[in-house]
Amino acid sequence: MKRRAFCLTAASALALSAVPLHRALAAAEGGSEVPAMGYSGKQIVLTAAEVDELRKSLRGQLLTPGQEGYEAARKVWNGAFDRKPALIARCAGAADVTQAVRFASEHRLLLAVRGGGHSLSGQSVCEGGLMIDLSPMKSIRVDPLAKSARLEPGVLLGQFDREAQVFGLATTAGTVSHTGAAGLTLGGGFGRIARRFGLACDNFTGADLVTADGKFVRVSAQDNPDLLWGLRGGGGNFGVVTSLEYKLHEVNPQMYGGSLVFPFVQGRDLLGSFSHFIAGASDHLYVDCAIVQTPDNQRVVVFDVCHSGTQAEAEKELAGLRKIGKPVVDALRPATYVDLQRAGDDNYPHGRRYYVKSGFVSGISTPLIDTTVGYLEGAPLPGGILAIVHQGGAIARVKRDATAFFHREAPHSVMLVAAWENAADTERNTQWLRTGWQAIEPHTDGFYVNDVAQDDVERRIRGTYGSNYPRLAALKRKYDPDNLFRLNANIKPG
Ligand SMILES: Cc1cc2nc3c(=O)[nH]c(=O)nc-3n(C[C@H](O)[C@H](O)[C@H](O)COP(=O)(O)OP(=O)(O)OC[C@H]3O[C@@H](n4cnc5c(N)ncnc54)[C@H](O)[C@@H]3O)c2cc1C
Repeated sequence: MKRRAFCLTAASALALSAVPLHRALAAAEGGSEVPAMGYSGKQIVLTAAEVDELRKSLRGQLLTPGQEGYEAARKVWNGAFDRKPALIARCAGAADVTQAVRFASEHRLLLAVRGGGHSLSGQSVCEGGLMIDLSPMKSIRVDPLAKSARLEPGVLLGQFDREAQVFGLATTAGTVSHTGAAGLTLGGGFGRIARRFGLACDNFTGADLVTADGKFVRVSAQDNPDLLWGLRGGGGNFGVVTSLEYKLHEVNPQMYGGSLVFPFVQGRDLLGSFSHFIAGASDHLYVDCAIVQTPDNQRVVVFDVCHSGTQAEAEKELAGLRKIGKPVVDALRPATYVDLQRAGDDNYPHGRRYYVKSGFVSGISTPLIDTTVGYLEGAPLPGGILAIVHQGGAIARVKRDATAFFHREAPHSVMLVAAWENAADTERNTQWLRTGWQAIEPHTDGFYVNDVAQDDVERRIRGTYGSNYPRLAALKRKYDPDNLFRLNANIKPG
């Protein structure tokens, strides 16, 4: 494959400047040149022969605009990102990933890597570049004897939970089951049993990785341990993971949990009482709190609860939460872990537009409560959500420098979310979120790289990795000196 740099002739420069890239891409269908976006921001042109050669080298499909399957493959969970890659490599295995990475590297193409497609900031799809789509790679192998699992990177969390729970096993996974395991794990991975077993990345024991030069690298505590350290929280900065290994824990499939809903009246008092209650929680208890507006404009506080002890232990511990106000819905009950894990799936549908900002907090303090409640009361927004995520426990018992993930001691993070359907409402929602976040951010210290809006990354990335940042930057320089993997919470080669 030979790279043909795009020398802008007078005619092509005129044509490309006048025609938006996605229209030029559509016109390029069917064996002609393919205009594409380079990672330096320059447009390049791939010849039909180059594209054809890549297509033939793959076991999976290579899609270009206009081809059947292209429209579905380019869609990601966050409908705010309507991007059209020049090429989508729907990889069938590690060999396809290797070919696609080599092609992107050789042509200096803008490169996006898609696992479950749930990047809140839309990083898994790019305009005009190459999208490596890992979603066809879905195998899961649970070894009940060794209490371990090996996944391909297209596996979704619900699929993993289900497979492992048949054997009475589980490891930490996120709270919405249609999220991808790979993206969640590489950035950290919070979830309903993280207070018992640590982050998903703490249970992530090994990987196969394709690095920027197209090399296959084995990663484990014995093989390239520097990379294992970096992949545990450093996100997609170091290559494409083609297989992930986890340690699993014995977890009783029968748990206790569900939703407990209170009216928002006296929201300050309610959150204050919750703050006292949650500070004493056992590692078996997980309680997320969300302030949302119902379709009939009622504001409510919803607690999403999961207790992984016995029913008696759960009911005893949750008595205090039930008493912080007068619930309008008490749906706490015995339930399977798999059911609790998917109970909230419909609240975050694919294709809706989302904008999110978040940060770690050292507690649910009175000033934080005043700021958040004050903002929600003063500037209500139908699709606006304030969430307080439960962390701590085993997450905080791992040393800050043991993995790339740094902000371990925070007992919670706060998230402000705007969610809306129509493009016409984008400005209003974006403004609402930015104004609210301006008030909330001073109460936070660092953010979760998987939750952050891209407009914040440059400004906040160093603080978020703290004293781990220089080591991450050195690792980036070693494995990706040209920053091929840049569509992520990007660490610049140091
Ligand atoms: C509805 C919803 C609920 C969520 N809940 C939680 C939660 O409970 N806990 C939590 O910790 N997080 C949660 N998140 C955040 C989640 O961790 C991130 O969105 C994560 O990136 C999703 O992974 P994915 O594979 O689906 O994403 P993708 O969009 O496919 O990937 C996101 C990024 O991860 C990297 N990446 C993905 N796969 C690979 C790979 N194989 N190799 C290298 N890099 C890769 C790439 O940089 C990519 O841009 C949630 C997100 C959503 C949308």
